[in-house]
Amino acid sequence: MRTIIAGNWKMHKDLQGAIDLVDALLSGSKDMPAGPAVVIAPAFPFLGIAVERTRGSRIAVAAQNCHQAAQGAYTGEVSVPMLKSLGVSHCIVGHSERRQYFGETDAAVGEKIGALLEHGITPIYCCGERKEEREGGRHFDVVGTQLKAALGGLAPDRIGRIIVAYEPVWAIGTGLTATAQQAQDMHAHIRSLLGTHGDVVAREVPILYGGSCNPKNAEELFACPDVNGGLIGGAALIAEQFLDLVRIAQLVKHLN
Ligand code: PEP
Repeated sequence: MRTIIAGNWKMHKDLQGAIDLVDALLSGSKDMPAGPAVVIAPAFPFLGIAVERTRGSRIAVAAQNCHQAAQGAYTGEVSVPMLKSLGVSHCIVGHSERRQYFGETDAAVGEKIGALLEHGITPIYCCGERKEEREGGRHFDVVGTQLKAALGGLAPDRIGRIIVAYEPVWAIGTGLTATAQQAQDMHAHIRSLLGTHGDVVAREVPILYGGSCNPKNAEELFACPDVNGGLIGGAALIAEQFLDLVRIAQLVKHLN
């Protein structure tokens, strides 16, 4: 199973800040011959420069969102072919901030996943329950419904090409983290749901944990058998912390 450490930069950094962070990650990771796959997701304006600077390195570049249509009169949006033409290889979809602030629905997320796969870009599909849903004991059902809505229409060979990120909404940017047991239980649940699309899907789709993951709590989380790495927000903005997370994943998952 692949291990992946992905950084979601959200709406942070200006041009120089993005260049400095990319360069710090490049110099900090060049002596790491083995280890997890590393993905960074800068904001749209900096994708091109991030792709150029990371070419030939171990760092892949992701967008944080895309539109499902190939082109058209959708002011302010960015299409998958546009991302493809820049050399972007991954795209986060369905992040809870997109769902919460921009009204993104499960159906739209499903269409975005289809468009990305069509163009050979790997979707990093985010799912996760809100605080009240966990407190009400509905977290497994909520995540199951999200997965079904997003992946239901896709053929198994396509589902096998995605990355899932479990991000409990109550843990994102709050400093609260799922316990290792909570993460493992949900990841195992997601893996069993993926298994309904075939054994290969269950075996090959990495499931990342996201939600206030940092170098202090990562070892315990990454040690869970069904946690295949992390989608990192705040700690991805500080090169030393993000590189520490890459090193921790390398050690914990024995990637030598
Ligand atoms: C995220 O938003 O994807 C995320 C995991 O953020 P943070 O690590 O800051 O909680």
